[in-house]
Amino acid sequence: MSMYDLEEDRLVAEITGRGARRLLIQLPDGLKNEGPRLASFVRERTGAEVFVSASSAWGACDLSLDAAARLKADLLVHYGHNEFLRDGSNGIPVVYIPAKSRHEIIPVVDKALPLLQGPRIGLATVVQHLHNLPDAVKFLEEKGFKVQVPGRGPWSHDTGQVLGCDYFGLKRIEPEVDSFLIVGSYFHGLGAALSLEKSTILADPYDKTVQSLDQDRARIIRQRYAMVEKARQANNFGIIKPGQSNPTIALNIQHQLEENGKKAVLLYADEIRPEKLLDFTDVEAFVDTACPRLALDDPERFSKPIVTRDEIMVVMGAWTWEQLLERGLVRL
Ligand code: SF4
Repeated sequence: MSMYDLEEDRLVAEITGRGARRLLIQLPDGLKNEGPRLASFVRERTGAEVFVSASSAWGACDLSLDAAARLKADLLVHYGHNEFLRDGSNGIPVVYIPAKSRHEIIPVVDKALPLLQGPRIGLATVVQHLHNLPDAVKFLEEKGFKVQVPGRGPWSHDTGQVLGCDYFGLKRIEPEVDSFLIVGSYFHGLGAALSLEKSTILADPYDKTVQSLDQDRARIIRQRYAMVEKARQANNFGIIKPGQSNPTIALNIQHQLEENGKKAVLLYADEIRPEKLLDFTDVEAFVDTACPRLALDDPERFSKPIVTRDEIMVVMGAWTWEQLLERGLVRL
């Protein structure tokens, strides 16, 4: 049995209920292997034609709408995320199936107890474990903690949920808690730690480990500061605007850079690959207006400095470094 609930019956009901005859199924890399089985199941049960996307599916923002349109699909099925609070459907209906995890979370929450600081805990998780969050709240309360769960953010769809680019809910409750507990993978735990100033503990139900992310946070903040300093030396900027983000942000940054006497070109790509950026030899630094994690997670993959849409404000002198840290490093 898969460790994820792929909601096959709901999928069939959505297809038959909508009368869809051709669909494109998008799965994140970790679930791609389920694609062939899902395709056979759907064909058998509904008679619909099924394409399984072999392209990346980084997040809820990353819908293969153009591909669905080219295939003349009448339904896009997007696995692994819930609805992104943004209208981007281009008229093609999208069914989101979060792929709820069957991994238990209470054993790792229990393991995390000695690392939690103070009696007031901010608790959040990713969409795959949201259905288990009430159990974790109850468990922590029985252990004497006062638990606060964040409300929805601009992009995260549900109470208690974080996205790799949306930790606003946690930021809002920060004054009322002593430390944070994130249930999920390192990617989301680190994003939370970089957005918060209080101690952040990760409980990872996949590899059954717990860890404080406070030292990682301090290390990455030092790296980001060095990156911003390097970008200050640049005169030619490439502003990366991938498919999933709003062009207004990229255009505003271009205008601001030009007002500061810098050159700036807008670069478009469906998916940002460092080796493709090598072709722009005159560009001295890049600004990432897409997923903030592109710049934050693996900056050494890029041969030139790459800063986020907020870090460029520090580069231009519009914000101080301290103001940036107060807002949090991760924001879409
Ligand atoms: S911008 Fe990045 S973190 Fe946010 S939903 Fe998209 S892929 Fe995930």
